[in-house]
Amino acid sequence: MKCFNHPETDAVAQCDDCKKGLCKTCATKFATPMCDSCVRNIASNLQSEHKKNLTLAIVFGIGGFLFGPGIGLFGSLLVGVWFAGLPFGWRVLSKLDVALGFILVLPLAGWLILLGAKIIGSLMLGIIAAPIYIHKSNQKRQLATQLQKMAS
Ligand SMILES: [Zn+2]
Ligand SMILES: [Zn+2]
Repeated sequence: MKCFNHPETDAVAQCDDCKKGLCKTCATKFATPMCDSCVRNIASNLQSEHKKNLTLAIVFGIGGFLFGPGIGLFGSLLVGVWFAGLPFGWRVLSKLDVALGFILVLPLAGWLILLGAKIIGSLMLGIIAAPIYIHKSNQKRQLATQLQKMAS
């Protein structure tokens, strides 16, 4: 097999993702042997993950701000910040659902109670989880920007 980028050079490895042939130079460009187009794909996924996280936080934050009880601007802002964490606390708890095998046969009321408990739990956890998730996805976004430069 020949290198995808250098048709005259023998391939020594394959792209980890799409299995294109890569020569020694191309195979060692990234920590894992990968072709440029697969690296660009991964980079753009990482970037859209961060955008998704920010969008979730903003949408829930605005929701909390608008539907927060009438306790003045500062109160509504606090509720907004608090609600911004909900989707992230939810994610943490959803991992727990799977871990605990929460695919139970419950009556509808049981599910509603579980749902309510999960929303409240998500709000509590979200205060911690949101900054962690957003910080992590922001780090990945920075990495993605570097990868994109290298892969272009
Ligand atoms: Zn590839
Ligand atoms: Zn090559």
